[in-house]
Amino acid sequence: MSINTVEMPEGYGGEGFFATSLSKAIGLARANSVWPLPFATSCCGIEFMATMGANYDLARFGMERLSFSPRQADLLMVMGTIAKKMGPILKQVYTQMAEPKWVIAVGACASSGGIFDTYSVLQGIDKVIPVDVYVPGCPPRPEQIIDGVMKIHELVKNEPLRRRYSPEYQHLLEKYQIG
Ligand code: SF4
Repeated sequence: MSINTVEMPEGYGGEGFFATSLSKAIGLARANSVWPLPFATSCCGIEFMATMGANYDLARFGMERLSFSPRQADLLMVMGTIAKKMGPILKQVYTQMAEPKWVIAVGACASSGGIFDTYSVLQGIDKVIPVDVYVPGCPPRPEQIIDGVMKIHELVKNEPLRRRYSPEYQHLLEKYQIG
């Protein structure tokens, strides 16, 4: 049986040793142990179920442990139509997640309201919380969801340790009246 290992981060290696920066080592560990919180409200959630299934197998990224508690999750996956009334609840879930945390908007509805340009539907979850990756499609196929997840992995892997304390990040949260 062959076992695939993750790509080594940048660093210096030799006979029996490898050295890299703390930031890269932590980024590598975080990127390969993301715990998602699925916030699924409609059809896109079904695509996510397929993504979790054996054929597409999100577990290959160490992501099979879904969290339904915001406090034990670091990736909020929003999938489906979000009504305006649900906006404050989504924001509450986001604020209950500990830092560092990431958000992926799966599908047209979560990204922009989709076909529901109506008085009752939030025209994109970035109206209430910051979003890191948008996945297009109505619905997106599991391959597209996996592509979005891999883009999140890249962000997680390359995020500097101090980013969450930076004035830019604090400013972003202030814009959303969070924190
Ligand atoms: S983007 Fe399309 S498939 Fe996804 S929740 Fe909206 S209507 Fe359903």
